[in-house]
This record gives sequence, C-alpha cells and structure tokens, in this order.
Amino acid sequence: MAEFTLDLNDDQKQVRDWLHGFAADVIRPAASEWDEREETPWPVIQEAAKVGIYSLDFYAQQFFDPTGLGIPMAMEELFWGDAGIALSIVGTGLAAVGVLANGTEEQIGTWIPQMYGDANDVKVAAFCSSEPDAGSDVGSMRTRAVYDQAKDEWVLNGTKTWATNGGIANVHVVVAVVDAELGSKGHASFIVPPDTAGLSQGQKFKKHGIRASHTAEVVLEDVRVPGHCLLGGKEKLDQRLARARERAASGGGERVKNAAMATFEASRPAVGAMAVGTARAAYEVALDYAKTRTQFGRPIIDNQGIAFQLADMRTQIDAARLLVWRASWMAATGKQFESAEGSMSKLYASETAKKVTAQAIQILGGNGFTREYPVERMHRDAAIYTIFEGTSEIQRLVIARTLSGMPIR
Ligand SMILES: Cc1cc2nc3c(=O)[nH]c(=O)nc-3n(C[C@H](O)[C@H](O)[C@H](O)COP(=O)(O)OP(=O)(O)OC[C@H]3O[C@@H](n4cnc5c(N)ncnc54)[C@H](O)[C@@H]3O)c2cc1C
Repeated sequence: MAEFTLDLNDDQKQVRDWLHGFAADVIRPAASEWDEREETPWPVIQEAAKVGIYSLDFYAQQFFDPTGLGIPMAMEELFWGDAGIALSIVGTGLAAVGVLANGTEEQIGTWIPQMYGDANDVKVAAFCSSEPDAGSDVGSMRTRAVYDQAKDEWVLNGTKTWATNGGIANVHVVVAVVDAELGSKGHASFIVPPDTAGLSQGQKFKKHGIRASHTAEVVLEDVRVPGHCLLGGKEKLDQRLARARERAASGGGERVKNAAMATFEASRPAVGAMAVGTARAAYEVALDYAKTRTQFGRPIIDNQGIAFQLADMRTQIDAARLLVWRASWMAATGKQFESAEGSMSKLYASETAKKVTAQAIQILGGNGFTREYPVERMHRDAAIYTIFEGTSEIQRLVIARTLSGMPIR
C-alpha cells in the first residue's frame, strides 16, 4: 500500500508541469473564443489527443496512480486553463468511469478505446443518467430497458437530459430502469454503440457557463442494443436484483448500490479538483491585479480589505485541495468513505470556487465585470460545480445522513 505523503513524487511533478504547460499554452489562449462560440472545441481536443492528454492511456495512468492524486492533479491543471474546454477534454472520462465502475474487463477493453478514438479521428463519449423529472431524485428515472430474450437484445426507451456530449458522442452510456418496483436499486447501465438506430440528440442547451462544453438532451426511441452491452453482464444483474428484492421483501436497507451512484461516488472528488482549478485561476488573476492596480497612490493590495480577502481565498483553495486529495487517497487505498469524505470534498471545493471567483470580480472592480478579463467567465463557469454530479444540497444530505445514520430529508 502506498504511504500517505503530501509530497508529490518526481513522476507526478513532471506530469503536473506538462499539463500546466498545455493548459497555459493551448487551453487558456483559446478559452474566450470557445466560450463565445458555445461549441465543442474539436481542434483543442485534437491537440490534446496529439500530445497524449486526450487518450485512454493517459486517463488510465492517472486513474490507477496508487496514491490517488493522479486524477485530481490532472483535473486541477486542465481546469485552471479553462473549465469549458477542459470539460470537453475530460467529459469522456465520466462515461469511461461508468464503464470502469460497472463493466466487465472485456467491456472495458472494447468500449473505452472507442470512446476516445485516436489522434487523427478523435471521438467523445457521454454518460446519460439525468432526466427531466429525475435530476437529484434519481429514483424517479423513467427510461426503461426491456430484455428481448429471443434476440438477446435490450430495448431502451426514454429521454435523457443535461448529457455532456449527448448526441455528439461515439459511445453513450445510458442508465435505465430494468425493475421499476425496486426504485433506484432497479437501474442498470448500458452501452449504446456508435450509430445505433433510435438514438438522437434533442435540444442543445445554451448555458450560463462552461459554454465550450456541449450539453444536450438524448432521445431513445426503441433503441436495440445487444445483450453484451449491459454493463457487468446479465448474470451479475440478475443476482443484484435478486438481492435487492430479498432486502425489499424483508423491509431491509439500502445496501445495494445503484449503477449511477457507483459512477458518481468515484467521480465526486474529481469534480472537487476541477473546482479547485477554476478557483486557483481566478485567485491568481486577482492577486496579480491587486499588486499592480494603483488607487490613492498605492497598489490596492496595500489595503487590508483587499489583502485579507486574498488571504482567505488562498486559505480556502488550499483547504479544498486537501479535502479533495484526502478523498482521492482514501478511494485509491481502499478506505471506506465513513463520513462521506467524497461528498465533503466536492461540497467544499465547489462552494469555494463560487465564492472565490465572485471575490476575484470584486477585486478587479469594473474590469472584473467585463469580458476583457477572464474572472467574469471563471465565475460563470464556477456555478456548475455546485450543481452537477449532485448539487450542494444533495452533498449535505449525503454527509448528514452518513454522520447521523438518520433518514434526514
Ligand atoms: C452543464 C451540465 C452538465 C451536466 N452533465 C450531465 C451528464 O453528463 N450526465 C448526467 O446524467 N447529468 C448531467 N447533468 C445533470 C446534473 O447532474 C443535474 O442537473 C443535477 O443532478 C441536478 O438535477 P436537476 O437539475 O434536475 O435539479 P433538481 O434535482 O430539480 O434540483 C433543484 C434544486 O432543488 C434542490 N433539491 C432537490 N432535492 C432536494 C432535497 N432532497 N433536499 C434539499 N434540496 C433539494 C437542489 O439542490 C437544487 O437546488 C448536467 C447538468 C448540467 C447543468
């Protein structure tokens, strides 16, 4: 087992510096353009693929870093560059984690490479769980998957919403209800392979922030996928459903994890790290500005009112990073999240990003409010972190339930 240390090893430092260089030289200069265009920045994704940042190999290397710090470090650096572009680069990872968390080795080997494509022909993937009536309340999901035994095919029907890369993805991972009586315990995840008939993109959303990242509805009309597209396989699903039915019959608990939750648990600290990246970016701009902007004959940082804000901003960013690193280290070293440490890290980091980016606008004054300076965009981008992958209210609910053991509502 890897020993706990806050010192990054030489390999980690090298990767961090390499990613930082890409974020500074390629992502940051393109940020404003793609925010205005509100389109997927394919040339930047392609550039990331060429240097090896947008690839299964890179993702797997960071994912399996025994200290757990590979993914949070990568997220922080890329999102420091720009959140919308970075999400376009790492959005495929959410679908990949869906397969890693629930799929067999064969499924992992077959589908994850198709999610990324290659440097000459990049592809993206989408993870589709949310629905118009099932956001925080995953148990209200309506998309159905019905098994056609004669053909060994699953038939999917329903409408997914808010899917990052939805409709433009090569591979879609879709969570659907297979047993409505079991609520969220009756869900399963399916691969929808490229060019499958019946899957189409619905509305593409115009957003407040992370506008370079594509977010859309995904409509599933009699989508037929082969039996081997059920993640984890039929035998495992049947066993899991049988256990859930037994528990339900005996009035027993919540112990069987549902498919979407398994994906979210693995990805929450990573979202916290994204938030740390955006917060750090805004803090750095504000610190530079405060040292160079002169009013009343002295730099504005000479005022405690500004300097103390910067001190608080930096303290909160560092605290957020430590929570993210703790949760990531715990997950990588097989420690149970007994106090919902993953949710804690996401809650604190996302709220910090919202607060810090707002403070950065204030420190830049009128300039902060314009699109001439990046903190306005960073503040719009930061708003997503308290919403997706479980809102702040839902994180608090998870933490409070875990700490108290009570069914807090
Ligand atoms: C840009 C973007 C990208 C996204 N990408 C994806 C994706 O790739 N795949 C995917 O499946 N989904 C994705 N989502 C969906 C996202 O996960 C949901 O928006 C989120 O889970 C919240 O669901 P909702 O929007 O339906 O809000 P609701 O659940 O309707 O919540 C509305 C408000 O009520 C609060 N609330 C709800 N229930 C409770 C409660 N019990 N106690 C206290 N407060 C409560 C919430 O915290 C929130 O403030 C994305 C969303 C966005 C905006």
